[in-house]
Amino acid sequence: MSDPLITLGGMTATVHHPETPPGRSVPVPLDAAALTRCRRRVHLDHDPAAVSLPRALPDPSLEQRRADALTHREELGALLAAALAEGWRTVGPGPTPVRAAATAAAVAEAAPFVWGGVLPADAGRRGGAELLVRLPGGGYVPVIVVRHRITDPGTGAVTSPLLRPWPGAAGPDDTRRVRSQPRDLMRLAHLHRLLRSAGWAPPDGARHAHVGGVIGLDADAVLWHDLRAGHWPGGRSTLAEYDARFADRSAVALAARTGAPALAEPSRVTECRRCPWWPVCESELAGADDISLVVRGEAAVALREVGVPTVAALAALDPGGEPPVALLTQPFADVVALARAWRRDLPVVRRVPRVPVPRADVEVDIDMESFGESGAYLWGVLIGYPGGERPGDEPAGYRAFATWEPVPTPDEARSFAEFWGWLSATRARAAATGRTFAAYCYNEQAENRWLLGSAQRFAGMPGIPAQSEVEAFIAEPLWVDLFAVVNDWFLCAHGKGLKRIAPAAGFAWRDAEAGGENSMRWYRDAVGMDGAPPDLAQRRRLLEYNADDVAATRAVREWMTSRAVEQLPLAADL
Ligand code: SF4
Repeated sequence: MSDPLITLGGMTATVHHPETPPGRSVPVPLDAAALTRCRRRVHLDHDPAAVSLPRALPDPSLEQRRADALTHREELGALLAAALAEGWRTVGPGPTPVRAAATAAAVAEAAPFVWGGVLPADAGRRGGAELLVRLPGGGYVPVIVVRHRITDPGTGAVTSPLLRPWPGAAGPDDTRRVRSQPRDLMRLAHLHRLLRSAGWAPPDGARHAHVGGVIGLDADAVLWHDLRAGHWPGGRSTLAEYDARFADRSAVALAARTGAPALAEPSRVTECRRCPWWPVCESELAGADDISLVVRGEAAVALREVGVPTVAALAALDPGGEPPVALLTQPFADVVALARAWRRDLPVVRRVPRVPVPRADVEVDIDMESFGESGAYLWGVLIGYPGGERPGDEPAGYRAFATWEPVPTPDEARSFAEFWGWLSATRARAAATGRTFAAYCYNEQAENRWLLGSAQRFAGMPGIPAQSEVEAFIAEPLWVDLFAVVNDWFLCAHGKGLKRIAPAAGFAWRDAEAGGENSMRWYRDAVGMDGAPPDLAQRRRLLEYNADDVAATRAVREWMTSRAVEQLPLAADL
């Protein structure tokens, strides 16, 4: 028999049976997120001694994404409820036990669709599904609603129409292919196991007994996954992968809760950037001079395994010698140079004596600001004339193309069209006057995504370029990604973001709080998103921040092509 759960002020706690020794081998209830999180985070999340340790401030962009996801779910729920009114049951908000009881009541009456349900916790699991769909032969399969893209153009996905969210309506889709989203698969497997424990799942041999559905950001179909399909390395099924991870994470959490030797130690991974435990882990890693401070992820694990556990040990290796282990992401000599740079507190070093950066007579630095997935509200440009300004030229300096209506808004099409028209005219004028032209950004992924996305979303509206025109621009050598230049020609011991590299070029932002995360908060105030009147001071702050970003990219490329860059040590000399 599993231990019941009670809810105390939003926290779920396990209630021990008298015969169970407290704190010994009683599973710690995990939600689906634990399955894809860093193992050390699972440890710290369940270690009673960690409660008083310092944590990073909440990430405002994460809070924003959560709020956006909630809105997305609510809109989807309202749409489906209206379309499927007859068999629809909504479990309303409230304390977890009340919601769990309402879910059980809807299941007991064999409701075809249960929205917002909380499943009975089992020994070690808890969770809820946006939608439970009853199969014709009885039993429920889960459907989750997420706010990220789950398919790409292509073929091979199995989907059903959005307003027919049941697996019997699904079939091969010749317009979509599945985009890999491991966290969705883990959550579906988690819910599948919870439904089985509750006795609410379809019989094992029933058709569609092992499927789960996902409704993504585009919300134009339900994508169905067979949880027994071998999507994982080695041909493992989603359920097999889930079971292995669940056993591992449960053991980590139990060890943490009971004070047993920790089963997970800190090691820097991509997730650290947004993890609340980073202050704790950073201090531990620094104290141990841990190798992951310089080489993160799997490479750190591989180096530790062959006896290179510290930055000092890595720095002492011969960069021209045989690597102790094959590193897939970076040349071995670079990794050793990074370790040496780290030990000398050098944030940036050169890999080569001279850095090739394309320059032109007419140069434009471009930076786009977006608000989550909702839209790109600002395209900022900084134009300069290294080849000499001519009469009739657009004045050198910064210019912004913005919409201050909260995105999403059709006014975004107007500002994007104005930006594109200005850029095209500037290029055309350079060509007509026999001058070369180049445009620069820092990390083209975001700009390219919104260039293409804007052409797609606003196709046919005044001034909006054809998608092919945007694709041709992106493919041209005159569109220069300075991040790629930095990546190719520099080694950066503390990261390669613009905020890291621009100070090496002598650039400083006017606003000490400038950053992508803060800009989200400023934007909400700037457009009056939370009901208050629009805050004009925050608009000015955003424009200043954007103007500084394009000034920073210009400073970086001018520095890279000047003699000043020679003051940076060469990696080979370290
Ligand atoms: S800071 Fe990094 S290592 Fe530490 S718990 Fe978070 S993700 Fe894991």
